[in-house]
Amino acid sequence: MRKIIIAGNWKMNKTIPESIELANLLKRSLYDTSEVEIVICPPFTSLSDVGEVIMDSNIKLGAQDVHWEKEGAFTGEVSCAMLKSAGCVYVIIGHSERRQYFTETNGTVNKKAKAVLKEGLRPIVCVGENLEERKKGRAFEIVKDHIVNSLSGIPNEDMLKVTIAYEPVWAIGTGVNATKDEAEEMHKYIRGLLTEMYDKELAGEVRIQYGGSVKPDNIRELISEPDVDGALVGGASLKADSFTDIVKNCL
Ligand code: PEP
Repeated sequence: MRKIIIAGNWKMNKTIPESIELANLLKRSLYDTSEVEIVICPPFTSLSDVGEVIMDSNIKLGAQDVHWEKEGAFTGEVSCAMLKSAGCVYVIIGHSERRQYFTETNGTVNKKAKAVLKEGLRPIVCVGENLEERKKGRAFEIVKDHIVNSLSGIPNEDMLKVTIAYEPVWAIGTGVNATKDEAEEMHKYIRGLLTEMYDKELAGEVRIQYGGSVKPDNIRELISEPDVDGALVGGASLKADSFTDIVKNCL
């Protein structure tokens, strides 16, 4: 039985005081929602403070990226140990904005996923095709490439700690979400790939979130599909009301 997971990706939004305010609001509004796993991913600068606010709550802390090296001369980067010491449990890896603007590749995603797992953290590995790729009928080929190469060499026991986020790039921040049928079609395909790479039992335990213009009024329909195990939420995670309603609509 896979527990629904709703994660909020705050991206490059919220100063430290703004982050603390939002985290406090969420802690209050979401105190009675333990059936859903809730994760919030503030920017690096706010992680520690938000971690303190949500310490005794049912909300978990996540980061938006990480570097795979343990430490050293990597100016501007943040390590897995640093994220752990700030209270993180989850780390988003391979978000399409990182792939598009910051030269993230399947190779770097793979290194990051392995480093995160080694540190005892849980990666949320993002995959998904862009609009041109979908229009050309290449969506499944692209997602297969992301899945196979991002997860390469991750052993069975670690794979249970991985969450996949299927995020079609054309749905991110556009207001146009994938329909429940489009989401289910790809999630089912991803689970099939995991069955080939691992086995049916393990593939049945890995959670696959959908991401792309998730709102309070479409989440219920999306998670009604058998292979959609929650959502990675961008824009709608920045307001306490909308994020709370997304979580509550999963109950
Ligand atoms: C995201 O960036 O992960 C995302 C899903 O954004 P939005 O919900 O705004 O489409």
